[in-house]
Amino acid sequence: MGNSTGESGFLDIIKTTRLMLQQRNMNPWKTTFPTSTTSAAGKRIRWALLIEYIGSLLLLIGIAVVLVWVSLQQKRTILVESQQVQTTLARIAEADLVGTIRSSDHVLTELARLHADAQLVRRAQAPDFWQDFWRRLPESSFLFAVDAQGRIIAASESSLLEQMVDTREYFTGPRAYQDSLRVFISSPELVLGRERAIVLSRSVRDSRNAWRGIVAVVMPCSKIQQMMAQFRLSETQTVTLADETGALIARVPLPGDEGRSLAINANNSMFVLHQRSGLPFSFHEFESEIDGEEKIGAALTVNTNPIQTNQSLIIVVSERAEVVLGPWRRLMNVLWGYLIMGFIAIWFGVISYQRRRDNEGARALIEALLANPTLAVVGVRKNGSICLFNAAATVLTGYSEQEAMGQNWFELCIPPQGTSGLHELFNRVETSSVTPNEYENNIITRMGEIRVVAWRVSMIHDHKGWMAVGLGVDITEHRQREAELTTQAQIDVLTGVPNRRHFLDLATKALSQARRHGHQLSVLMLDIDHFKLVNDTYGHHAGDRVLKDFANKCSEMLREEDLLGRLGGEEFGVVLPETDGPAALIAAERIRQHFADSSTQLDTGARIQCTVSIGVATLGSPDVTCEGLLQQADHALYAAKHGGRNRVVLEGDAPP
Ligand code: GH3
Ligand code: MG
Ligand code: MG
Repeated sequence: MGNSTGESGFLDIIKTTRLMLQQRNMNPWKTTFPTSTTSAAGKRIRWALLIEYIGSLLLLIGIAVVLVWVSLQQKRTILVESQQVQTTLARIAEADLVGTIRSSDHVLTELARLHADAQLVRRAQAPDFWQDFWRRLPESSFLFAVDAQGRIIAASESSLLEQMVDTREYFTGPRAYQDSLRVFISSPELVLGRERAIVLSRSVRDSRNAWRGIVAVVMPCSKIQQMMAQFRLSETQTVTLADETGALIARVPLPGDEGRSLAINANNSMFVLHQRSGLPFSFHEFESEIDGEEKIGAALTVNTNPIQTNQSLIIVVSERAEVVLGPWRRLMNVLWGYLIMGFIAIWFGVISYQRRRDNEGARALIEALLANPTLAVVGVRKNGSICLFNAAATVLTGYSEQEAMGQNWFELCIPPQGTSGLHELFNRVETSSVTPNEYENNIITRMGEIRVVAWRVSMIHDHKGWMAVGLGVDITEHRQREAELTTQAQIDVLTGVPNRRHFLDLATKALSQARRHGHQLSVLMLDIDHFKLVNDTYGHHAGDRVLKDFANKCSEMLREEDLLGRLGGEEFGVVLPETDGPAALIAAERIRQHFADSSTQLDTGARIQCTVSIGVATLGSPDVTCEGLLQQADHALYAAKHGGRNRVVLEGDAPP
């Protein structure tokens, strides 16, 4: 079929075929197609499809799970690497800070000894006394000593002398701790109206264990800040030092407000997360309280052992999450993108594979349909040109596919009287594309033979517009047989004239027609005389010959429009349209005479001579029925028999 099947959309043809399968109420079609929509094969196909869908879905889910697992592993590796870097930096910062605290402890121990021995005030008079301490403590800004009442009695800056610090934390703290501490670290505050700083102080007791006050080292936050800045590797890193309460001592880069507490509303802050962990060292992802950035960092509680302090300091080294995880996240985005595209591609692949397989199934079905030797498939465009023509159509019409394609179907195969009906059908098909239209028509074959074809016509739309596709079955023989059967039911087998029932039908029609047009009409009832005697003398077979002969002779005597029928036995009826009584009498007489003058020759050579009696009735009253009229003729026949046979009697002339 090649190009002719490719010309239309296969799916459309399938649609038509399905419709046809659904509407199998016409006999020639019922036997043509097996139904397969509810078969076990159909169920198997549905299962196979389901398994394919589920299988591909599971495959995609499997790939996604593997990808998620791999990506989480990758992230873990990155975080561990980052953790190592942050931890190392925090440890270095811790070592530096602990070194400073140790140096401060040495200085404080020395100052405390002098204070306890009451030598400090005097020794501090020396011009280079403080220089030595400063050299050992470059992070400090000034040093001072306070007496038991809270008055500064010696200071590295003389302007501080005599000031009262009895309410300050760095004074009250060491006093409250009862000497259990070596170093007291105060919270960051503005110290002596100079600068924001933390104060490292310790208690002083004399040899009789009387409390003599404190000695203190002031460490400005700005200097600690400078110290912390050394441990920062990149611009995106943050190094923070806070005390145990969360108060910020130093931060690189500067947040602008060193005094703010990191603990306030900071459920997710690194500081809180570290405190909550209870560990000396912890690692977290968090959102910075200060700049709101997402960060990843290591927190470390500074270990000052063996120097005991009132509180622990906490160092946090963090990196912007974007810097640590950015490349990973971008890679993940790309991977997910590929995965989603893969999902879509596989899904489309599955669908298109199934569609292609469906198409192949449809194609196979169509090929099978088109190859069916008894089912002619003819596709005709709106202008009548043939665009689909299968092998069975070739057998039916006698034209090859090459000859038929592109030709006008109406001109090629439709008898002139059939085209108007077909055009009407085309319009009907065009307006009702859903229901296939059943149609029966005659076609002329290449040899000029007329064939009767039962069609089912459907509309198929494609890129070239629409076409009517007719699936045709040759029912010529079927119709011929039907006609034969009809004839057999109407014609008397022996004589070949209409039997009683058919004669009465025809007579009734002729009567009503005559009455409608006000025409004359007469009927004859004919009965062969002494026929029983013929049978008895020559045998039944001879009687049959006489009956046949009589029917022939009657027909010879009658006009084309006259009706002859065998009513039963040796009794016949004749209808004479447009014939009045006298004319009917003449016709009857002619028959009687002809029969009486002739004889029937048997195979044996013997001749049989018979006569016939005829009763005649004419349409008089307008409401007489066919049966009534025949009864009248029968009445006249009766009279003819009684009158001596071999005669004609007109109804009315007969004696009552
Ligand atoms: P009449 O002159 O009164 O009509 O006498 P008849 O013998 O013709 O009439 P009757 O009705 O007594 O006999 C009719 C005979 O016709 C009886 C029957 O055996 C014979 N007959 C009926 N049908 C056929 C037939 O098909 N073939 C033959 N051979 N005889 C038949
Ligand atoms: Mg009779
Ligand atoms: Mg008779």
